[in-house]
Amino acid sequence: MTHSISGKTALDWAAFEAELAPVETISEPVLVKKRSRDFFWYSPILNAQLRKSFGDLVALPSTTEELAHCLRTAHAHDAPITLRGGGTGNYGQAVPLDGGLIIETTRMNRILEIGEGFVRAEAGAIIEDINTALHEQGWELAIFPSTQDIATIGGFVAGGSSGIGSVAQGMLRDPGNIVSLKAMSVTDTPQERLFEGDAVNQIHHAWGLNGVITEVTLRTVPHRNWVHCMATFDSYRDTYAAGYALSCAENIARKLVSTQDARICDFYPRLESRIRKNKHLLVSLVPQEDMDAFRALIAEQGGQVDLAMSEAELKEAKIPLVYEFAYNHTTLQVLKADRSATYLQVGCPTPPDPQAIADLRPKLGDDVWQHHEFALLDGEIVTFDLPIVWYSTEERLHEIEATYEANGFPIFDAHICMVEGGGLKNADYRHLAWKKRMDPKGLLNAAKSREWVNVKDMDPEAIEAMIPG
Ligand SMILES: Cc1cc2nc3c(=O)[nH]c(=O)nc-3n(C[C@H](O)[C@H](O)[C@H](O)COP(=O)(O)OP(=O)(O)OC[C@H]3O[C@@H](n4cnc5c(N)ncnc54)[C@H](O)[C@@H]3O)c2cc1C
Repeated sequence: MTHSISGKTALDWAAFEAELAPVETISEPVLVKKRSRDFFWYSPILNAQLRKSFGDLVALPSTTEELAHCLRTAHAHDAPITLRGGGTGNYGQAVPLDGGLIIETTRMNRILEIGEGFVRAEAGAIIEDINTALHEQGWELAIFPSTQDIATIGGFVAGGSSGIGSVAQGMLRDPGNIVSLKAMSVTDTPQERLFEGDAVNQIHHAWGLNGVITEVTLRTVPHRNWVHCMATFDSYRDTYAAGYALSCAENIARKLVSTQDARICDFYPRLESRIRKNKHLLVSLVPQEDMDAFRALIAEQGGQVDLAMSEAELKEAKIPLVYEFAYNHTTLQVLKADRSATYLQVGCPTPPDPQAIADLRPKLGDDVWQHHEFALLDGEIVTFDLPIVWYSTEERLHEIEATYEANGFPIFDAHICMVEGGGLKNADYRHLAWKKRMDPKGLLNAAKSREWVNVKDMDPEAIEAMIPG
């Protein structure tokens, strides 16, 4: 019996590794441990829970045949499996809770087809590479995460939900954004299955628990000459109001609208002397041809455009692209300077109400700095607060959450590593029914689902019958 890095499996991992040949593997403990982590450390609570959860072996298949060989071998030995793309997930999504085999998809990275309004790629393709290939043909992804330089397209579809583009194109789950995907089952003869139309949501955002995504087709939109913009305001209320006005403007296209408390900007050293000090910030991507209208809107709303640069100009000036100050990158910029920061995920009243945001601010306390992302949800503009929270104790964190909730702002828990805990809030029986079909032994990181143990012995139709309504 060989040593198990995780301490949780009783398999002979050296023999298992030999069986995986010719698939590339990594068994060096330091490297396996590195690939057992994602960005869960944003949360002090998850950091304490997950920092010692490791896998036992990493496999890097480069074709679907090699992937099938890995899955067949794991199935034969009842080895737990965790899928991994770029490892940028936030809630320990890619952490192997039961140890076992980590399958990293980054060698399965071919861009297979670019057509009118779509791109088809293997799951391990890096999103930035896809966007670069698209740009050459006049297209860009309708939605992509701010982590595009590391994240894979399969990881985004399995773990993500929205991103740059969502203010105009909606959530990933909205019809047409994921055109189709293929996922492979974990059985003695792994099979690829095609999911199209609404059926993509049977696999999307299931955190890799109910099938191995091998290929994804995503919607693309014509590429535009985006200007990276930053505008500043005296009050957060005005910044938020301007964000809402911009998100609804008929004469201005936009791919990103994000607003941030002035105190957060002190953590942006690269923007020093580029944006006014002690002012609240609006971050946006606006096409060149709409810049006059954008400047007029910002002035009408009482703000000032401090920065308007092309991607090439930013790179030349060594300033990160503006979306590296948005979504979860806002938190990351702060964490780079001070590890005592964390964040929350909070829903806001719809339609966006600047007064409700202003009224809430004094109730939150000085340890909470607001940060809103604007997005289109079910055809309406909504906002999510991803505030910076200066962590002191778990009790204080829960007190802040209670303040939000008591004022009509629902919390989507970012400090829980269960799929049912965060955005979904409840068990997704559609996902679990497909887990039973695609992974009947429950090898795909089953510990991430609280509900799986209750349904694992039921047949898929009976699980589906539990879908509410
Ligand atoms: C700084 C920062 C900014 C972020 N910004 C955004 C954002 O704008 N929008 C957003 O939605 N998210 C965002 N996230 C979360 C995360 O980056 C995205 O979800 C990202 O696209 C995940 O891709 P990945 O390749 O890194 O996935 P991983 O972290 O490797 O995996 C994510 C999940 O998908 C599963 N998985 C991976 N590959 C497969 C596969 N082939 N088949 C099935 N399951 C698989 C994993 O098991 C895991 O559960 C951000 C995170 C950070 C740290």
